Amino acid sequence: MIFKTKPADVFKERHNGPDKEQMLDMLNTIGVSSLDQLIDETVPAAIRLKKPLNLPRGLSEKDFLKKFGAIAKQNKVFKSYIGLGYNDTIMPPVILRNIMENPGWYTAYTPYQAEIAQGRLEALINYQTMVMELTGMEIANASLLDEGTAAAEAMGMFYAQRKGARKNATRFFVSELCLPQTIDVLISRATPLGIELEIGDHRQANLEDASLFGAIVQYPAADGEIFDYTSFIATAHAQDILVAVAADLLSLTLLTPPGEMGADVVVGTTQRFGVPMGYGGPHAGYFATKDAFKRVIPGRIIGASLDAQGNKAYRMALQTREQHIRREKATSNICTAQVLLAVIAGMYAVYHGPRRLKYIGLNTHALAQQLESGLRTLGFEQLNEQYFDTLKIAVESAELQAAIRTEAEAAGINFRFVNDTHITISLNENTDLQDVKDILAVFAKVAGKSAEVLTLDELPAETEITWPEGFIRKSEYLKQEVFNKHHSESEILRYMKHLENKDFSLAHGMIPLGSCTMKLNATAEMIPVTWPEIGQLHPFAPADQVQGYKQIFEDLESWLCEVTGFDAVSLQPNSGAQGEYAGLMVIRAYHESRGDHHRNIALIPSSAHGTNPASAVMAGMKVVIVKCDEKGNIDVADLHAKAEQHKNDLSCLMVTYPSTHGVYEESIIEICNTIHENGGRVYMDGANMNAQVGLTSPATIGADVCHLNLHKTFCIPHGGGGPGVGPIGVVKDLAPFLPGHAVVKIGEETAINAVSAAPWGSASILPISYAYISMMGGEGLTEATKFAILNANYIKARLEKHYPVLYVGSKGRCAHEMILDCRGFKKFGVEVEDIAKRLMDYGFHAPTVSFPVAGTLMVEPTESEAQEELDRFCDAMISIREEINEIEAGKADQKNNVLKNAPHTAQVVLAENWDRPYSREKAVYPYEHARHYKFWPTVSRIDSAYGDRNLVCSCAPIEAYNEEHKEITAV
Ligand SMILES: *Cc1c(COP(=O)(O)O)cnc(C)c1O
Repeated sequence: MIFKTKPADVFKERHNGPDKEQMLDMLNTIGVSSLDQLIDETVPAAIRLKKPLNLPRGLSEKDFLKKFGAIAKQNKVFKSYIGLGYNDTIMPPVILRNIMENPGWYTAYTPYQAEIAQGRLEALINYQTMVMELTGMEIANASLLDEGTAAAEAMGMFYAQRKGARKNATRFFVSELCLPQTIDVLISRATPLGIELEIGDHRQANLEDASLFGAIVQYPAADGEIFDYTSFIATAHAQDILVAVAADLLSLTLLTPPGEMGADVVVGTTQRFGVPMGYGGPHAGYFATKDAFKRVIPGRIIGASLDAQGNKAYRMALQTREQHIRREKATSNICTAQVLLAVIAGMYAVYHGPRRLKYIGLNTHALAQQLESGLRTLGFEQLNEQYFDTLKIAVESAELQAAIRTEAEAAGINFRFVNDTHITISLNENTDLQDVKDILAVFAKVAGKSAEVLTLDELPAETEITWPEGFIRKSEYLKQEVFNKHHSESEILRYMKHLENKDFSLAHGMIPLGSCTMKLNATAEMIPVTWPEIGQLHPFAPADQVQGYKQIFEDLESWLCEVTGFDAVSLQPNSGAQGEYAGLMVIRAYHESRGDHHRNIALIPSSAHGTNPASAVMAGMKVVIVKCDEKGNIDVADLHAKAEQHKNDLSCLMVTYPSTHGVYEESIIEICNTIHENGGRVYMDGANMNAQVGLTSPATIGADVCHLNLHKTFCIPHGGGGPGVGPIGVVKDLAPFLPGHAVVKIGEETAINAVSAAPWGSASILPISYAYISMMGGEGLTEATKFAILNANYIKARLEKHYPVLYVGSKGRCAHEMILDCRGFKKFGVEVEDIAKRLMDYGFHAPTVSFPVAGTLMVEPTESEAQEELDRFCDAMISIREEINEIEAGKADQKNNVLKNAPHTAQVVLAENWDRPYSREKAVYPYEHARHYKFWPTVSRIDSAYGDRNLVCSCAPIEAYNEEHKEITAV
C-alpha cells in the first residue's frame, strides 16, 4: 500500500477557523462558487496586488520555536544597573503563570461590556488605588502607555488648564534631571502645540517668569539624587504654575510622596512592580492627580457604580469613550492603554502588601548603602547626597571609565555611563549581596585592590535611613483590605482565579468586535515573550548585547514593508493612536522640511475613529470634516471641494481603509490623487489591515503613511485593553523623518523626536507578530484575509434577513466586518444596548456598539472562528430577534422583558421570588448551547450615570492623608 505523506501540523490550518468542508458550505450559503469569486466580488480589481506577498514560507510551530530560540540566544542577558526608569524586578511565579501566561487574562478585550469584565475592572481599581496611595494623590487613571508619554500628558493637561496670571503662558519648565527619554518625548509633544520647553536646574528656575504655565521634576532625579520639592512647588503655586513630579514608585515606599509636597500631578512607570524590562516595554505608565482635575484626566478611569439590583459594580467612568465622543476636543488620544501590565503591577502590590513592598524598598536601599561603603573603601567617590537605589560615582578620567566598562562587561554587568567622568549604578529588587560583591570586584580590579572589601554574608538585621527627617515617609499606605489579605500563594491564586472567572475572554467564545480584530493569539506565538533573552534586557543595553533583537526588528520591519508596500517602518509607537500621532508628526516634519510650515489642515471623514481627530490636534493640525454619503462612502465631491479650498494649507487626509463602514471604497485611488494634487499627504488608519493583507496594500491604494495595530491584525493579544503596538510604515520620501531617540541613536538627522520612552516601544511583544508572520508565510497571511472576508460574509448571509446590514460594496458584499442596524427597534423600546447585554445571557460578548453609527452593532468575526462558532453567534442573534418580535407584537412588555432585564445573574434567577413575566429558563438558557457552555455574568445591568455622578475610583475610601502621622515601625 502507498500512503501520501504530509506535514501533520500546518499552522495556518490551526489559525484559520473553517476547514475546507465548512468553507464550501459557507460559500454555498453566501451564494458564490469559490472563495476567489467571493474575493473578486468584494475587493475592487483596481486595487488588487499584482503578485503574491514575497515572504518566507510558513514554518510549523516546532520549527518556528527552534529558529526563534537561536535568534533570541544572540541577546545577552547582563545584570542591568542602568536604571533610568527601567529596573530588574521579580515577577512572582504565581502571577507569571496565572496572569501573564494565561489566555483567560491576556485575550480579553477593553472592558466596554462591564458586566462580563468585573474581574479586570476590580484588578484595575486595585491598581488605581495602589498608585494613589504610593504617590499620595487623590485619583489615578487605569494606566498610560509609558512614563515619557505620561509626562507629556501631564504637560498637555496643564496647558489646557492654565489659570490666573498664567492663562496665556506658553512655556513649560523641565528639570534637566528628568529622564532623558522623557525629555525627548516632551519635546515632541510640546512643539506642535506651540509650547516652549525650558530645560534647566530646578534650583535656579525663574518661576516669576510670566510665560511659564507648568513644570516637571524627577523624584529621585535621573542620576539618583533626592530633592525635596516642597518649596519649589509652593513657589510655583503662588505664581499659578502647576507642577508634575515624575516619581519612582518603589522609592515611595520609603520616601515622602510627591502628593505630600503639593504636586498637582504625579507620573511614572509601574514597571518595577513585577513587570520585566522587556527591552523597553510594554509597561504601564501611571498618572495620578488631584480631585480637582478628575474630569480632565487623560486615559481611562475605572469607577464603582451600582447594578440594577443595587449591588456594587465596576465600569469605566467618565472618560470611557472620551475620544469617540469628544473627538478633536478630547483631552488625549488614548484608546489602547496598558491594562494587562497594570493588572500585573496591581496584583504584585496585592500579593506583597504594604509590609513586603517596604521590605523590597528597604532591601534595595540597604544594598545600595553597602555598595557605597565598599566603593568608598576602594577609593571611589559617591556624589549623591541622598539616594534611594542609585549611586553616582566619580571617575577621574575617560580612560579609567573605559577600563571600568571593559571589566564590567567582561563580568556580564551594565552600568550607566553618564559622561566621561560619571557612572551611575541603580540597584533593584533582584539585586543581592553577591551582586554587590560582583560590582565591587569590577571596581577593585580596575583600582588594583583586593576585592574583599565586603565580607557580609547577609544584610545586617537593621538598616538606618540617613536621609533628612523630611524625606522619610511617615504616612501609611495600602491599608485597604485587598492589600492585606492575599499574601499566601493559595490566597493569591484563588483571588486571581476568582477575578478571572468573572471575565469573558477568547477562552470562552468569539468576541466579534468590529474594528478590533479579536483573532486567535496562538500559544506558540506567546511562548517566547517570557523567555529571559526577550524579557530581561534593558532598553539602553549596549548594541553588541542585543543582536537578537536587532534581527527581530530588521526582519519584522522588512516583512511589514512587504505587507504595506512601503519603504520603511518604525516600531516605536505603543498603540494605534500613537502611530497616528507619530505618522502625522512625520507628515508635519516633511512639510516643514520644504518650508511649508503653514500646511496644517487635516481632512478627516465624519466616519473616522475618534482617535483620528484627537491625534491630529496633538500634532498641531486643524481638523476639517469631510462628509460621507448615505452609502457610507466618503462624499468625493465634498472631498474635492475641501481639498481645493484648503490647497494652500492642506497637510493631509486621514482615511481608514476599508472604511469604518466595512466597505472597500472604489474611489480610494481618486481620493488619494486629489489629496496629492493639492499638496497634501495621505495617512491611512490601518486598523482594518486584516481586510488588506495579501490582497491590496496601503501603498497600492495611494497612501503615504499608515499605522498597523499589531494587536489587531498581527495577533498580539488585547490584554483586556492593552498592551498594543502601532508601528508606522511610510513611503520613501517620508522615511528620513521617522522617530529618533535621545539615548539610543536611531533614525536619521532629520528624525522627529521620540514618540515613546523606549526606542523600539514595546519590543518584548514584537516576537508575537514575528511568530505569526513566520508561521503563516505570505500564502497563509493572504488566506487569513480571505477567510476573514468569508466569515464576515457568511454572518451577513445568515443575519441579513433578520437585521438590516448597513453599507455594502457594489456587488453586495461586506469586507471583513459589517454593521447591523438596530435603530428600527427603538420604536418599541429596544435599544442596541439591550441586545448587547442580552447576548451575555447567550454566552457571547457583544459586537462593537454604536461605532461608527449610533444605534448599530459592528460585527467582525475574524478568520479564526470556525463555522460552528459563527453559527452559534448567528443563532443567538436570530433568537434575540425573535425576542424582539415578541415585544413588537405586544406579546412581551416593553419595559419588563428578557432584553431590558439582561444580563441575568445566577443570584437573580435563583432568588426565592421570581416575578418576571417570563420563565427563569428563558432568562438564562435561551437556547440549547447555553445549557452546555453557560457563562454567568456576575452583576446585573450597570447604571453608568449613577457612577459618574458619584465618582469613586479606589478600592475603599482612602483614609485622609496626613491625618495620622504614625512613625514607620521598624521592619
Ligand atoms: C483600534 C482603532 C484605533 C486605535 O488604535 P489603538 O491601538 O486602540 O490606539 C484607531 N482607528 C481605528 C479604526 C481603530 O479600530
